[in-house]
Amino acid sequence: MIVHIKSAKIKRLFLDVYSSLPEPPTNIHEVGDETQLKGADELLGLTYECFGGKCDIYLNSKLLLEYFGDNGIRGIIAHELAHAYLGHPGSLLSTQPEMDEYLENAADDLVREWGYIVI
Ligand SMILES: [Zn+2]
Repeated sequence: MIVHIKSAKIKRLFLDVYSSLPEPPTNIHEVGDETQLKGADELLGLTYECFGGKCDIYLNSKLLLEYFGDNGIRGIIAHELAHAYLGHPGSLLSTQPEMDEYLENAADDLVREWGYIVI
C-alpha cells in the first residue's frame, strides 16, 4: 500500500483507522489526496478500480480539514476502507443508482460495526 497524502494530519488519521481494524484490507494499491482527485473536487473521498483485486482510495484532505473534526474524518476514512474491504467497484463508474445505494449502505453498516461514525 502506497500512501501519497501531503497533509500529515490526514495521513496520521488514515493510518490510525487502518491499523485499528480487526482485519485491515490488504487489497489497497494506493491512497492519494485531492491532487490526484482530478474532476472530482466536490467528493470527500473515493474508492475505485477494485475490479482487478486492488483498490485505489482518494481522500480530499482540503475538504475534510475544512468541514470535519477528527471523528468525522475518521468516519469518512472508515467508509472508504469499508468499500475496499468489501471489494466494491467505484460508484463513479456505476450507472445503476440502486446498486450504488446498496453498496453505500453495505459500507456504512461495516463502518458502524468497526465503531466509527457514519457521515
Ligand atoms: Zn461510499
